[in-house]
Amino acid sequence: MSDIREMMKEKERIVIKIGSSSLQHEQTGDLDYTKLDVLVRELCDLRNRGKDVVLVTSGAVAVGRKAVMMQDIESDDKTSVKQACAAIGQARLMMIYQKIFAEYNQVAAQILMTKNTIIDNLNRFNAQNTFEELFKLGVVPIVNENDTIATYELGIGDNDRLSAIVASLIDADLLLLLSDIDGLYTDDPRQNPDARYIEVVERLTEELMEMGKSTTGSSAGTGGMNTKLQAAKIANNMGVDMVIANSADIKVIHRILAGQNIGTLFLAHREEGFDLPLYVQQMHD
Ligand code: GLU
Repeated sequence: MSDIREMMKEKERIVIKIGSSSLQHEQTGDLDYTKLDVLVRELCDLRNRGKDVVLVTSGAVAVGRKAVMMQDIESDDKTSVKQACAAIGQARLMMIYQKIFAEYNQVAAQILMTKNTIIDNLNRFNAQNTFEELFKLGVVPIVNENDTIATYELGIGDNDRLSAIVASLIDADLLLLLSDIDGLYTDDPRQNPDARYIEVVERLTEELMEMGKSTTGSSAGTGGMNTKLQAAKIANNMGVDMVIANSADIKVIHRILAGQNIGTLFLAHREEGFDLPLYVQQMHD
């Protein structure tokens, strides 16, 4: 086990995904600046250690709703309303990230993606090139789905899978999903006190995938355990290790990369026949 964790120290290209619920104060739904600050500081420190770092962040819709004071997510989930909120919120979110990254003397860039970015060969190629150039420039790409134009057909839908797709696209060696849960359990620990925590998943079985289907996430984001396991499937098949860890303390980022046994580790096993563009094209909820 410790050997497996030791290899975390060698990771050079890392994608970190943070969900809306981890960025907001539970009581008000407003952004948690303290957490955002720690997150950005951790990322900048990874950059300072010479690693390539990508942040996949949610929050566009949630921040947009707050900005125009449409708090109640459930009451108005018309696509056009969500898309308008995303247009408002994404810009605001980036403004905040830019500001904090600048405080640490780090340049951040924005990349917004849809399914088409992966399915279309030219788009995919362009996206890959952009990421590579940004890494060469020492910049931290900040990725979200282009919610403003992504409809159900075009959309990936959740940032768990989006982050796995990004990690695959750029040939990352680690995907770190920061969530409101410690890792994978044999059942939903919030409902079943006998649920057992799983430290490492050497191979994702159908049984595990099924297990994830019954769990749902928080109201702020769109991902429950199901989308996290799907993300693990994409990442692992594409040769990327994945860790799910609790975002309650954002500093787990450097601890995990120092080899500490935190979160559930899903080990990569490259599946030669796995076709990412085809998989994305056929993806559904
Ligand atoms: N892309 C959405 C947003 O930024 C969130 C998707 C998710 O929560 O997984 O609001």
